[in-house]
Parts: sequence; structure tokens; C-alpha cells
Amino acid sequence: MTAALEDLTGPPTTPADTASPDSHLANNYHPLPVVLTSGEGAWVEDSTGRRYLDLLSGYSALNFGHRHPALVAAARAQLDRLTLVSRAFDHELLAPFADGLAALVGPLLAAPDGVLVLPMNTGAEAVETAIKTVRKWGYEVKGVPADSATIVVAADNFHGRTTTIVSFSTDDDARSGFGPFTPGFRVVPFGDADAIAAAIDETTVAVLLEPVQGEAGVVVPPDDYLPAVRALCDANDVLLVADEIQSGLGRTGTTLACERVGVRPDLVTLGKALGGGVVPVSAVVGRRDVLAVLTPGTHGSTFGGNPLACAVGLAVVELLRTGEHQERAARLGAHLGRRLDAMVSEGLLVTARTVGLWAGVDVDPARGTGRQVSERLLERGVLVKDTHGQTVRIAPPLVITQQDLDHALDELAEVLRDAR
Ligand SMILES: *Cc1c(COP(=O)(O)O)cnc(C)c1O
Repeated sequence: MTAALEDLTGPPTTPADTASPDSHLANNYHPLPVVLTSGEGAWVEDSTGRRYLDLLSGYSALNFGHRHPALVAAARAQLDRLTLVSRAFDHELLAPFADGLAALVGPLLAAPDGVLVLPMNTGAEAVETAIKTVRKWGYEVKGVPADSATIVVAADNFHGRTTTIVSFSTDDDARSGFGPFTPGFRVVPFGDADAIAAAIDETTVAVLLEPVQGEAGVVVPPDDYLPAVRALCDANDVLLVADEIQSGLGRTGTTLACERVGVRPDLVTLGKALGGGVVPVSAVVGRRDVLAVLTPGTHGSTFGGNPLACAVGLAVVELLRTGEHQERAARLGAHLGRRLDAMVSEGLLVTARTVGLWAGVDVDPARGTGRQVSERLLERGVLVKDTHGQTVRIAPPLVITQQDLDHALDELAEVLRDAR
């Protein structure tokens, strides 16, 4: 039944049924049945007044929790000044944002001559920016013949949803039906440096990887993998591009996940938490000589680097500057890992992969699907989301208290125990 206007005055208490012919919302998501109305820190409240612990954190866009006071204050102050100028004009926060992000991330890159920052909005746009940059670098600097550049990527990757990016996805749902695809990508197994070596030739301009594969279920490669990839890139004049949109900005216990294994990429894509859960903010940070191939007219975005985005992004950089959130992620993450490993020992979980305050756990099919576990946790006031059938991803806000984290994990253990 089509809702009459008078029916739309109050907030809905049940989620839109996007499979229904009456829904006007496109059916490209399958959300859990909850309508959220407010949030603070690690907690959110639904339209019936029920509270939930958020262990998804907007896929790590909410690393600092819901409505972090410093981020809300920065956004509010900027709303009263200036929100958009487009890049046709400069504004007073654009250079400070670039300087701040360069100071935070630049020292972590293989960039002795410094870095440049290119602000965009969504993660996919940052990845597209990196792809365009390394291709142009390949033609103008490396000397790759026109239109023949190749980029080596990993199977089970997730880099976003644009036509070019899904061209090298190995997820059939993400890819099929969207061709013709952009050529120039070579897909090799994740975690296998020899496969990268075999895929590199004189046309190769970059290796593009997630240091930890998030959407794939928090898949952590062997510790010697990224160092080996770095060495291969150095030996073959190939750029290493780390997509840290989900893994970066504190999640794994360091500012970049690459730091864990002492690897410095040439370019890094950042997003999600860079916008503090307030506005979409993404960026490519990379070697000055590489990003310098982009000149006026070659790339851009109407909203990229807008004043509101820069105000929030700068406040995010400020939160990460002291290292306290990274330390907290490492400390709470060690606790999370111990507790999940204990659930594996108890037979409640098949496997648990934990890195920093981030985990992918595989549920025994006898105890239900990832979706069913997520739905049962929802009933107990804990929000998580399944991925790829049997996997549940756990990514609490870095500001969660250990007590709240323990409460959520107790509920997870109970749900798994009851399911048999
Ligand atoms: C989420 C994500 C993206 C895409 O970000 P959007 O803002 O959704 O476009 C790209 N890469 C990784 C690793 C991600 O997790």
C-alpha cells in the first residue's frame, strides 16, 4: 500500500522493505531489521528507544564513535562559516588539511622527497584517483607504451563499486552484469608474493592491495608478504599502492596497517574514518613526484576538499596525531583477540582473525549463518554484520570501553552457545 502523506509524519519503526513493490528504495542492500535514530560513542538507539552497542562502526567510518564531540564541534563551527567553494577558489582550510594529513601519513610512506595530498569524497573515488595517477606516471615517467599499463591486484579484493573498480573484482555479485570491463588489471591470489612476481612485466605500473582485506572477512596476509611485495616493486620500478580506506587511521593499532609489517607504500588511499562518520572525506596521499603527474584539468571533484570536509578531516587528523587511539586499538584489540581465540578453543567459532581492534570470525554452519548470528545479536542489543555467508566482522569504535566490549562479546558467546 502506498503510504499517504499523513502516514509519514512520524519516524518509521520498521525498516523499509526494499523487496516490496511499494518501496521506493532501490534494493541494493539487505540491512538488519532496525531503524536507528540517535547515537553517541559506541552506542546507538532505535526508534523504539532500545539501545545497541555498535560493533560495525559504519565499516570503520566511525572509528571515533558516533558524534565524537571534537568532530561535531568542528563541523558545527564550519557550518556557520563556509561549506563549499568548489576547487575554482581556495579556502582557508584546504592547505591546513593537506599539511596535517601529510604530516600524519607522509612519514609512513616511501617518500623521502615528501608527499602530496589529493582530496576526494568517497573511497571509490580515491581508488580511481590512484589508478589514474599510476597509469599516467607509467606513461610519462616509467615509459610504458600508450594505453598498455597494467596494475596487479589481489583476488577477493574490495576497492569500491565504480565500473573500473568492479572490473577487477572477483566477487560475482559485485561484477556480473556490469561489463564491458576496464582492461589493464591482473588478478593474483592474495598473500602470494611469487604470484605477483610472475604477473609483473614491463607494462606493470603498480601493485594495488589492501594490507588487510576487510570485506573479504578481515584476511591478514603472512607477515612476510607485504615486505616481499615492497621488494618486488622496488626491483621492477613498480609503485606500491596500499588501499587503507578500511584498515587505516587507527583500526589495526597503528595509523596505517602497513606499519605493522614495516612497509612503506608509495601511495595510500584513505577514506571512511577520515570523514569521522560526519561527511564523506577521502584522499590519496603519495610520493610528491608521482602525484605531480596530475596537473590542472586532468582530475578533480566538485566536492573534494570542501570546507566542511576539511574541517572534519583536520579534526580527525588531530585525534590521530597523539597516537592514543592507535594505542587503544592495539590494547583493546589484544583483549578482543584473546577472547575470540577462547571462543575458538571452546568450539563456539571455527576461526577468528584479529588484527588491532578488528576481527573476522567464521561461524560453524551448525550454529547458523553469519546473517543468523547477526540477527540474534541484534535481538540482544549488539550490532554486527555478516559477510560472505559464514563470516561476521567485528569492528567496534576505537573509543569503546573494555566493559562494553566484554558485554558485546559475552552476548556473542551466548548466541553461539544457544545455537546448538
Ligand atoms: C569501503 C572501501 C572502499 C570504498 O569506499 P566507498 O566510500 O564506499 O566508496 C574502498 N576500499 C576499501 C578497502 C574499502 O573498505
